[in-house]
Amino acid sequence: MIACSCAVCTSLDFRDKRSRTSILVEINGVHLVVDSGPDFRQQILGNRINRMDALLVTHEHKDHIAGLDDVRGFNYIQHAPMPLFALPRVLDHIKVEFAYAFAEKKYPGVPQIDLIPVNTDPFKVNGIDIIPIQVMHAKLPILGFRFGDFSYITDCNYLSPESIDLIKGSQVLVLNALQREPHISHYTLEQAIEVAGEIGIERVYFTHMSHKIGTHASVSKELPKGIQLAYDGLRIEI
Ligand SMILES: [Zn+2]
Ligand SMILES: [Zn+2]
Ligand SMILES: [Zn+2]
Repeated sequence: MIACSCAVCTSLDFRDKRSRTSILVEINGVHLVVDSGPDFRQQILGNRINRMDALLVTHEHKDHIAGLDDVRGFNYIQHAPMPLFALPRVLDHIKVEFAYAFAEKKYPGVPQIDLIPVNTDPFKVNGIDIIPIQVMHAKLPILGFRFGDFSYITDCNYLSPESIDLIKGSQVLVLNALQREPHISHYTLEQAIEVAGEIGIERVYFTHMSHKIGTHASVSKELPKGIQLAYDGLRIEI
């Protein structure tokens, strides 16, 4: 957090440097990125990602789309527009927020993006099966995604029984846990632990943590077996 001197913001532990939530999923050589928040460019550079086949967007909040302009780097080297999959409502927001990229007469070099609407039906990207999982982010229905045995949910404070059924059987679940105090649109640490236990996934990683939750080292001591905090640069193999 800008101008904060709390234990997390001043920590020297690399696991406490929390950039905005995003993930790259690699399956059979296909590279899918979920969300392009304000830190997208640094995340791509820092992790030396040299190919990106598609972007999936969970929802329209700025911490998940603000870095979209930088997909143009991939346009230049891949000589193709970037396919972007999201709910129709989210695509409408993107068209407004990045109007210059969708203008009739474009300035040279602006990002080229193919907007592809999805709903809650499973879909394929370059042969990879993706199951959208609708989750509630306060009153906003947004998407999480299941890729094979991996489920990924970023901004949620309610999972319906139907959504839980879609997650069940995953080997790994990533779930949001924002902070300790109640929040209008995110699970708290306590709620996330409870929900993770209910779904019964063997390996769970929490993401989308605010600095208010505490340091990686201190929170890790409180977590039940099978649950860990994710951190920037974490790699999980399934
Ligand atoms: Zn802080
Ligand atoms: Zn959000
Ligand atoms: Zn968010």
